[in-house]
Amino acid sequence: MSITAVVGAQWGDEGKGKIVDLLAQDAEIVVRYQGGANAGHTVVNNHGKFALHLIPCGIFNPATVNIIGTGTVVDIDELIKEMDMLASCGIAMNNLMISERAHMSLPIYPLLERLLENARGVRKHGSTLRGISPAYAAKALRIGVQMGEFRNPKRLSETLSELLTFGNQVLVNNFGATALDVPETIGRFLSYTERIVPHLGDTLALLQGGMRNNCRILLEGQLGTMRDLDWGIYPYVTSSNPLPGGAAAGAGIPPHKITGVLGVVKAFSTCVGAGPFPTELHDDTGRYLREVGQEFGATTGRPRRCGWLDAVALKYASMLNGFTEIAVTKLDTLDGMETLKVCTGYLLDGERIEHMPLAADLFRAEPIYEEVPGWKEPTSGARSWNELPRETQHYVELIEGYLGAKASIISVGPEREATFWK
Ligand code: GDP
Repeated sequence: MSITAVVGAQWGDEGKGKIVDLLAQDAEIVVRYQGGANAGHTVVNNHGKFALHLIPCGIFNPATVNIIGTGTVVDIDELIKEMDMLASCGIAMNNLMISERAHMSLPIYPLLERLLENARGVRKHGSTLRGISPAYAAKALRIGVQMGEFRNPKRLSETLSELLTFGNQVLVNNFGATALDVPETIGRFLSYTERIVPHLGDTLALLQGGMRNNCRILLEGQLGTMRDLDWGIYPYVTSSNPLPGGAAAGAGIPPHKITGVLGVVKAFSTCVGAGPFPTELHDDTGRYLREVGQEFGATTGRPRRCGWLDAVALKYASMLNGFTEIAVTKLDTLDGMETLKVCTGYLLDGERIEHMPLAADLFRAEPIYEEVPGWKEPTSGARSWNELPRETQHYVELIEGYLGAKASIISVGPEREATFWK
């Protein structure tokens, strides 16, 4: 049996989707354990190019059971759209299971999130405005609705009516916003019943069976360490825990049963949305990385902020995740750069620090760089470690040192084939 949590080592968008798609070729179960439809896991394989938001990236292997886990919040409209999109590309959906305990993200939440974000003015959180934080807040307030309620349309209709009416009062009375059409929304939700119910399941029983049968299980994280609710750059974080501790709770796996934590690390840094990002480049190099790396959000299309590798953030991620192995992605984006910079410390109020301060202080931190040699030869055609230039190997070894784990996977292009085992 192997149970591997696949976790982002940086600010998100490291290429977790690609790595899960690859590993799922050889896995019986994949569980998305947190987050909602704000994910944009990009997969490029023999079926085409896909941006998956909620459905796990193992869906392309018909022999893999793909679970939308208990720790997620499910935007039903988006889920239906995603199921339709995949079905139209010939991807079967009978291997998709939704935890009956996962929470619904209601259509009122994106409206509420937009109003809250606007009210913050210049202190915006840079949210994707998909309603994720109100959905998790409702869950914590214990006014959430679990997906299993789809089995009881009458009760679901009553609960939705109460919640949406209450939500409308908040929207209209506090923000002067236009109310959501409650009967229309309930009608639409109930019209999905026949599509949702066949996928609902007791995922705990399935996972327990999987463990008894020595299955290979992948736990698919969304976003990355620096966006973790507890350990990330609060408040510019997501509303759940991408860390492997979140994987145990969100999937429903005893923590000691997780046999490995695979950290996915991009060869440079990117960050989408607001928040401190010390190595951000506002110059031509930043624009070059964005263009060559095609760094635009898969869900929102927003240009990603790009910068040099941040070893302080990587060491922080290493302590929190306890990586047992890593996958290094997007080495090809750095092809042709004469020298690369790595941030090995921050200058904060005149003092060198090597730990991660609070986000409020991280805004003032200036990166202290070391230069390392780049490589001229293209790496995108490489299919083995020995085909990589010596400088690329050295750069990977540096990353291994920061993360305290050996690279098992090297990625040099978006396609599934542009990957090899080290
Ligand atoms: P995720 O959310 O961690 O799955 O990452 P995203 O899918 O949001 O962003 C990663 C982007 O990089 C996607 O567009 C991938 O197709 C792409 N990608 C992944 N690995 C590589 C790689 O090794 N090289 C290049 N050029 N692109 C990659």
